[in-house]
Amino acid sequence: MKTFEELGVSEAIRRAIAELGYENPMPVQEEVIPYLLGVGNDVIALAQTGTGKTAAYGLPVLQKVNPDDRRTQAVILSPTRELCLQIAGDLKEYSRYIDGLHVLAVYGGSSIESQIRSLRKGAQVIVATPGRLIDLMKRGVARLDAVENVVLDEADEMLNMGFTESIDEILAGVPEERNTLLFSATMGKEIERIAKTYLRNYQEIVVGSRNEGAEKVNHIYYLVHAKDKYLALKRVVDYYPRIYAIIFCRTRMETQEVADLLIRDGYSAEALHGDLSQAQRDLTMQKFRQHRTQLLVATDVAARGLDVEELSHVINYGLPDDVENYTHRSGRTGRAGKRGTSISIIHIREKGKVRVIEKVIGKEFEAGTLPEPQEICTKQLYRVMDELERIEVDDVQIAPFLPEIYRKLEWLTKEDLVKRIVSREFGRFLNYYANAPEIVQPTATRNGKKGERNENKGERRRAERQNGPRQAEAGYKRLFINLGKRDNYYAREIINLVNRYVKGKVQIGRIDLTTNCSFFEVPEAEASLVIQKMAKAKVGERRVVVDSAEREQASAGNRGGKERHGRTKRFEADASPRDMKKKWKKEAAPEREGKKKKRHEDWRQFFE
Ligand code: AMP
Repeated sequence: MKTFEELGVSEAIRRAIAELGYENPMPVQEEVIPYLLGVGNDVIALAQTGTGKTAAYGLPVLQKVNPDDRRTQAVILSPTRELCLQIAGDLKEYSRYIDGLHVLAVYGGSSIESQIRSLRKGAQVIVATPGRLIDLMKRGVARLDAVENVVLDEADEMLNMGFTESIDEILAGVPEERNTLLFSATMGKEIERIAKTYLRNYQEIVVGSRNEGAEKVNHIYYLVHAKDKYLALKRVVDYYPRIYAIIFCRTRMETQEVADLLIRDGYSAEALHGDLSQAQRDLTMQKFRQHRTQLLVATDVAARGLDVEELSHVINYGLPDDVENYTHRSGRTGRAGKRGTSISIIHIREKGKVRVIEKVIGKEFEAGTLPEPQEICTKQLYRVMDELERIEVDDVQIAPFLPEIYRKLEWLTKEDLVKRIVSREFGRFLNYYANAPEIVQPTATRNGKKGERNENKGERRRAERQNGPRQAEAGYKRLFINLGKRDNYYAREIINLVNRYVKGKVQIGRIDLTTNCSFFEVPEAEASLVIQKMAKAKVGERRVVVDSAEREQASAGNRGGKERHGRTKRFEADASPRDMKKKWKKEAAPEREGKKKKRHEDWRQFFE
């Protein structure tokens, strides 16, 4: 790897970028900088935002500017005002040690008068949106006859936004003896046409592969019924307590609606779209950049100029019609060497689009199963506990209040206090998920295959049927329990239940959960005791059954391995089918009669 000095970057610029923390050139910079420092070199670079492309063209362009000449020598075109400001900001940073060099951003949606005044003072580098630049050219304020470098940044997006004619007009108005540099995330027909018309002997530089989504991005889709899209979005967002994401919607109206719903439901969210005033958009973006907002709900166009490094997720609330937009969206995560996730919440009719996108990005999507309420709440609970642990306490400041606080709360035990604090912090999720509407996902099949998680489950069950139950670890015995995820019983609940009935804390090993029942391992020496004590166990009105997994498997075999409603029936293998039916009906009665009540009960137990 070469250093910036070896690439030919001047001392003044090196000093500025060192202060920004740029130690080594990024790949696109290594290729583009030395080439552009030469004379008469045109370039098409296929590089996404986040690859370091601004410095790749910015450093050589700035270095070639003569600061003693006040005329405009470089023009950078960008699709949106936000990107314009961002590029201008970066270029100002890079050129801070070059005396007399002025960079000016001109864009629509803002007073043209003040831009005219600034232009009259002279700016060697203009960063502009195409429409406003043409306006300024027509008024005779922007003079481009001394321009030596023209950069089209996010050229594909400018074409998507209908700037083709404006670009043609601008390029026709600058001297022929110039360098033209075209940066695009994707290579389409129109880009090729522009290249053929306006670039000469250009070199094509590809960073990563052509038209490919970022390497470090996982692509997941959740297939839901259209009516459940918002509910599914909430589940996804709730499952990642520290999520920092852009949620892309297709229209301005949908963007506003989703943002309004999220805000109503207590999320830190804001909308960003073209119907908002410029001042509102600026404020929204500033808050998001500063992490004061966790979720930005945005249209593709409005989010273009937003450069945020650390997005944990990109969420597609529906897929865009244009694959290129998907590439742009997902390329916003997985930056700066980190992994990112692009989540798409789609309904059945959009499934065809998934395949098209997969072909273009050369990567398969994972078909996801939405997280269950219990999983979500566990995650959120851990977040609350984590945050509580990390709270910094200022002993001095709090000291004068403590006696009064102790006096007021002395009737509460430590356990009561903990429960209260956690309930307060965690209440929103608890309340919502205790009564949350169910989301039935249409079978997430891909080419006849089940989604990843279901596939694994299916395989495990098949293997258990063929080879008998999984072997327990040495020294352990594998036990069956008639509670599963459908009953909101996960590892933690099983451990708590066993410990409630078996005194002296049993050491529980591996736990395997299925929808209707589960398996857990206990030390061999304690297995009989656990089975015996658990014979008394009940959840609500329902009897809990714990037995050796082998015995359960054998009796399931006697019954022909049949499962009814997916629930493994194990005891009374010798009872008549009618008796068994009666018994199961009776046992299932409380479940049917008060599903909601039972859920509340489960949630109460969740805290104990
Ligand atoms: P860009 O693709 O131009 O939007 O750049 C993405 C991010 O990478 C920006 O935050 C830049 O400040 C940063 N960046 C650009 N070049 C370097 C470099 N050589 N070393 C470290 N960071 C860089």
